[in-house]
Amino acid sequence: MKHLRLLCILSVMYCGTVNAATIQAAGMSVSACAPALAIINKLDYPGDWKVMVVGEKLWRDGHFASGLAVTDRANHVTLIRAQAFTDLHLTGKYITPRHVLAHELGHIVCDCNDEWKAEQYAAAYGKD
Ligand SMILES: [Zn+2]
Repeated sequence: MKHLRLLCILSVMYCGTVNAATIQAAGMSVSACAPALAIINKLDYPGDWKVMVVGEKLWRDGHFASGLAVTDRANHVTLIRAQAFTDLHLTGKYITPRHVLAHELGHIVCDCNDEWKAEQYAAAYGKD
């Protein structure tokens, strides 16, 4: 995943550890991590996983497209767009950040790119 390299060069700030998963902020202030920490605390992310909350400018610069999150299973990293926490209609339809993080966890659990399976997981665990 070439975009990860971009994030590595930039200063990534440590936000906290939840159930052993590490939460970091990239291109934004650490104080904005609180909602991510609260959500991941309720989800069963693997202990060796890293979740990065990515600021909008960095997200656009990284060309992560119009999506809300990206998961790199090989490197155990999930990137979530910071704006997903503040604008729940960002994609044109209402999606909560918990649903987004549960969907990404669905990919991790099934270890697949199957969007249907990820959505099934999010439907089961992504409710606020
Ligand atoms: Zn997906």
